[in-house]
Amino acid sequence: MLRLEDVHTFYGNIPALRGVSIEVAEGEVITLIGANGAGKTTTLMSISGLTPPRIGRVLFRNREIHALSPDQIVALGISQVPEGRRIFPHLTVTENLDMGAFLRRDKAGIREDLDYIFSLFPILAERRHQAGGTLSGGEQQMLAISRALMARPQLLLLDEPSLGLAPIVVRLIFDVVKRINQESNTTIFLVEQNANLALQIANRGYVMENGCITLVDEARALLSNDRVRKAYLGL
Ligand code: ATP
Repeated sequence: MLRLEDVHTFYGNIPALRGVSIEVAEGEVITLIGANGAGKTTTLMSISGLTPPRIGRVLFRNREIHALSPDQIVALGISQVPEGRRIFPHLTVTENLDMGAFLRRDKAGIREDLDYIFSLFPILAERRHQAGGTLSGGEQQMLAISRALMARPQLLLLDEPSLGLAPIVVRLIFDVVKRINQESNTTIFLVEQNANLALQIANRGYVMENGCITLVDEARALLSNDRVRKAYLGL
C-alpha cells in the first residue's frame, strides 16, 4: 500500500532521514520506534507532504506522492494525527471534527462517520459542544484521532499518541486504534516512544536510529529481541 524508497529528508542542510526504506501492506498495523530525534516524526511528515523528501520516492498504491501537496495527499486517503494533538482549542468538538471532513462533500457519509466516532469515544459525544481547549489531554488525543478519521483515511499516520497521557488512557486509546484497524480495515502507521505498547498492537515494527532503519521484523520477534529489549523496552 505504501512504500518509501531510499528517502532522504533535510531541514536546511541538515539530514534528518538518510536513506529510509519502509513498506506497509494493506490492513497492517506497523510501528516505527526509536529514540528522541531519531527521525520518526520526519518520516511521517515525509509521507504526508509536510517535509517532502529531497531524494527518494514515496509511493501510495503504486502512485508517486512525494511531490504532491499535503491536501492532495489527504484527498488520496492518508491522514496524519500530529504529535501534541494540535486540535483547534477555540472550536467546539463538533467544529474540530467538521474541519477533518473539510475535503468531503458526502453529507450522509460524514454523518455516518460522526456516529462511528462517537461510538468509539462516547466522551466526545458528551462534550460535543465544549471548546476543544477545555478537554483533558486524553480527550484531546481522542479528538485529534477522530478529526483525522473524519477524512475517512485508508492509511492513518499516528505520531506519539501516548505522549503525556496516563497509562489507563493510553490503553483505551490503543484499544480503539486496534478497533479502527480491524473494523474499518484502516491501515495504521504508528510512531511511538512507548515501544512495548506499540509492539503489542502492531503486526510488524521498524527500528530507527539516527535517520536510518536499523532493524525490521515481526512485532512479536522485536519484543523478544535482546537489542530492542535493552534499548527500547527498558528490560
Ligand atoms: P521525537 O520523538 O523527539 O519527536 P523523532 O524521532 O520524531 O523524535 P524528528 O522530530 O523526526 O525525530 O527529528 C529528527 C532530527 O531532525 C533531529 O535531529 C531533530 O533535531 C531534527 N529536526 C526536527 N525538526 C527540525 C526542524 N524543524 N528544523 C531543524 N531540525 C529539525
